[in-house]
Amino acid sequence: MRVDLVTIFPAYFHVLDFSLMGRAREAGLLDVVVHDLRGWTADRHRTVDDAPYGGGAGMVMRADVWGRALDEVLAAPPTPPEADEEGGDAPEPVLDPHAPPRRRILAFPTPSGVPLTQAIAQDLAGADQLVIACGRYEGIDQRVADHYRDQEVEVLEYSIGDYVLNGGEAAALVLVEAVARLLDGVLGNPESLVEESYSAAGLLEYPVYTRPRSWRGIETPEVLLSGDHARIARWRRDRSLVRTARRRPDLIDALDAKDLDGRDREV
Ligand code: SAM
Repeated sequence: MRVDLVTIFPAYFHVLDFSLMGRAREAGLLDVVVHDLRGWTADRHRTVDDAPYGGGAGMVMRADVWGRALDEVLAAPPTPPEADEEGGDAPEPVLDPHAPPRRRILAFPTPSGVPLTQAIAQDLAGADQLVIACGRYEGIDQRVADHYRDQEVEVLEYSIGDYVLNGGEAAALVLVEAVARLLDGVLGNPESLVEESYSAAGLLEYPVYTRPRSWRGIETPEVLLSGDHARIARWRRDRSLVRTARRRPDLIDALDAKDLDGRDREV
């Protein structure tokens, strides 16, 4: 997958050189390109914002600057295929006239967007290109999202929570990490994705423990040391249900009754 990040603070994204994201990039699973929005400004002050029409506090990011940037970034070629194992040159991409159009997502982080969920991340993991436009100040002129929605681009205005940040960069990092860890080969053990919170079961994950067995007088639950896989699975399911009911009752309400067994109902 190719990810393009457009921002006035390119240095913000150096963290993508590290950890799993850094390894995914090195392995060619993720191609991240960071663009400085000011490269598309047209004046010597490299202005990206202006006063809001209708008055009010703060500044708004200009549609013309964003339009020039996004036209160019959305026209970027797909991630090239990797070189073969012997280290030879990458094969020339073959243009298939019957191939479906490349799936391109243009995402705008904004506190007024739809809440970002695991289901959205899963859907975006199937895209070819994810472009994230990082707003600052009072946000980006609304015509930018509206314009690209009319093109062959899927536009997503998303929020990472009910609070307001200074800029879209932190929210862009959240989206990149949520999506990239779902790409084939990014996690060492893809089984990790099966039982985690917000996965198919629709519950929060059960509590987890590791060595030492006893720590500051707190014992590891005995069942986890029993080696009885059926009992462990049942205990974990119970703890997931209790935790979810306490912390996220909305998730319990959303469960399909046919997915609950008799014991689930008792819990
Ligand atoms: N005036 C805007 C409002 O009240 O909705 C807030 C603008 S905020 C100060 C500047 C930028 O931070 C936004 O354009 C967006 O990119 C980003 N941002 C802030 N909070 C966010 C959130 N909860 N989720 C996603 N992006 C957010």
